[in-house]
Amino acid sequence: MKALQYRTIGAAPEVVTVPDPEPGPGQVLLKVTAAGVCHSDIAVMSWPAEGFPYRLPLTLGHEGVGTVAALGDGVSGVGEGDAVAVYGPWGCGTCAKCAEGKENYCLRAATLGIFPPGLGRPGSMAEYLLVDDARHLVPLDGLDPVAAVPLTDAGLTPYHAIKRSLPKLVPGATAVVIGTGGLGHVAIQLLRALTSARVVALDVSEEKLRLARTVGAHETVVSDERAADAVRQLTGGLGAEAVFDFVGVEPTVATAGAVAAVEADISIVGIGGAALPVGFGVLPFEVSVNSPYWGTRGELIEVLALARSGAVSVHTETYPLDDAPLAYERLHAGKVQGRAVIVP
Ligand code: NAD
Ligand code: ZN
Ligand code: ZN
Repeated sequence: MKALQYRTIGAAPEVVTVPDPEPGPGQVLLKVTAAGVCHSDIAVMSWPAEGFPYRLPLTLGHEGVGTVAALGDGVSGVGEGDAVAVYGPWGCGTCAKCAEGKENYCLRAATLGIFPPGLGRPGSMAEYLLVDDARHLVPLDGLDPVAAVPLTDAGLTPYHAIKRSLPKLVPGATAVVIGTGGLGHVAIQLLRALTSARVVALDVSEEKLRLARTVGAHETVVSDERAADAVRQLTGGLGAEAVFDFVGVEPTVATAGAVAAVEADISIVGIGGAALPVGFGVLPFEVSVNSPYWGTRGELIEVLALARSGAVSVHTETYPLDDAPLAYERLHAGKVQGRAVIVP
């Protein structure tokens, strides 16, 4: 089968031919119908050889949707032909966190060498994807594969971040979304669907800010050194009750800290690597800073339900597998509006 692989440190990913996978005991083979392109893959492909955490070549793609093509011995609960989304952050399935459905925070994944597809294990940017356990599959139940696939990360990750801050997003509150790309433009829709907070969106690109307004942002602000003042002004000097930074670089975490209200939550979702110091006089009283990773299985089921209700719709541009390297180039150049999706 064809697969998009990251093969050489620092080089662009390549479309290659690899053997068709076959499901072993307990595994499910999916015919991939859609695979999402995430900025995290670009981060992975920028890491140096020293300390690189995955074995190469690596088939990319940690957002995947497909049709069940074959079942390994002993699999029950899914049947051939079922259309399913893949819950990506695989865990051991039995530790205290996994027992709560929080496989994203599995306590034993690192020790046991369990990796998500596309982030250590062969991913979804291929004609077929092997899934280790049927519990990682959620029925699409009528959702379109291209529309649904970004929900498994670009939807699930902001959903998880927003859900933990819902108690702060009461009527009259303000939520700030920094970076309105793949994750950010879904975050705006989730905030509108789940809260009555005013949503202020920041980005460096006018085109992205236009998309932000289209998907429901009440206000948009150009993300520069004046952005924090602009947001403070929009909130009568008080700041925002929740800030979601989908970039995570020095200037954006500084803005996040500067727009936070007393008792605000700041979620640094972007893996730009910047840190935000906390301490008396540094941030307003009782601001909490967190760095969430992906989401829970239960939350994926909720996000898909929200999409079925029509409250969330991802803006997508599609590419055949042969053009997947181009999709990454365009994402790297900031040219993708919404989410790029590969249709193998
Ligand atoms: P994306 O490229 O689609 O979107 C990023 C957006 O940020 C773009 O619209 C870009 O114009 C904007 N941007 C860049 N610099 C900015 C600045 N200084 N101020 C404001 N906006 C700026 O990327 P994505 O796929 O949505 O991913 C967003 C981030 O989230 C990446 O860092 C990615 O690695 C990370 N991520 C984290 C998790 C997690 O679990 N924590 C999951 C998925 C993605
Ligand atoms: Zn991702
Ligand atoms: Zn576990």
